[in-house]
Amino acid sequence: MTGLMKGKRGLIMGVANDHSIAWGIARTLAAHGAELAFTHQGEALGRRVTPLAQSVGSDLSIPCDVEDLASVDAAFARLDEAWGGKIDFVVHAIGFSAKAELKGRYIDATTRENFTRTMVISAFSFTEIAQRAAKRMSPGGALLTLTYGGSTRVMPNYNVMGLAKAALEASVRYLANDLGPDGIRVNALSPGPVRTLAGAGIADARLMYAHQAANAPLRRTVTLDEIGGSALYLLSDLSGGVTGEIHHVDSGYNIVSMPRPDILKA
Ligand code: NAD
Repeated sequence: MTGLMKGKRGLIMGVANDHSIAWGIARTLAAHGAELAFTHQGEALGRRVTPLAQSVGSDLSIPCDVEDLASVDAAFARLDEAWGGKIDFVVHAIGFSAKAELKGRYIDATTRENFTRTMVISAFSFTEIAQRAAKRMSPGGALLTLTYGGSTRVMPNYNVMGLAKAALEASVRYLANDLGPDGIRVNALSPGPVRTLAGAGIADARLMYAHQAANAPLRRTVTLDEIGGSALYLLSDLSGGVTGEIHHVDSGYNIVSMPRPDILKA
């Protein structure tokens, strides 16, 4: 394709299968010339991720559970062996919360234990990855994470994940400010709902897809290729002047308040 990512090496974290947002991003970056390494959470997912990695020419499929810092450090050590301690970009597409708490009212559903776990995995892990990746980056390096509009507006059943995404978005701004003087950019994509494993953990997820398709200005949900295209922009030199940004890829859903008065009249 364009060769926009030619000469750039990056780590993709968060592929579970070929429906994963991280996979949509990875295949776009590979098509534009990027050299990729992948992490997977545990052996079972490794069996899915390794062949996907191979399909885009990567033999680096490395185990990494972000709850276990030793496993994060081991993953970076493995990467150093392969790439000599240098990396150009990271995609962090990791989120988790107990399914039982992504259901019903936030005030009733949320426990201290799962609140903490959700924050560590879904928000703070991005900072821990940034701490390690930035040391290996030169000016021009870029970090990208994945958030969702439930951070700023209430979505039914999204609950504690909304709070974690708010923390993640704030960390994008703090990290962007910290790493800007080194020429490293930090941004987030905020896609509309996509049918993935993580997405299916939210009660009534199908209603979120249907609501976006009915009410977003483009009157549809977004595709993995569209999310990949936005990631390509934010990770390539095309967006060289952009950092600390939360970029929506949601068919415009975030801009509307009362989208369809026609439905009420019918
Ligand atoms: P997915 O299930 O395909 O990916 C989630 C990934 O997180 C999986 O690969 C899983 O292994 C990984 N993960 C969870 N806990 C982990 C841990 N402890 N260590 C390492 N990895 C761990 O789902 P997805 O929808 O592609 O999710 C990717 C990101 O996109 C998440 O941050 C999610 O919140 C965000 N997002 C999703 C949607 C959506 O509608 N699906 C919309 C906006 C943002």
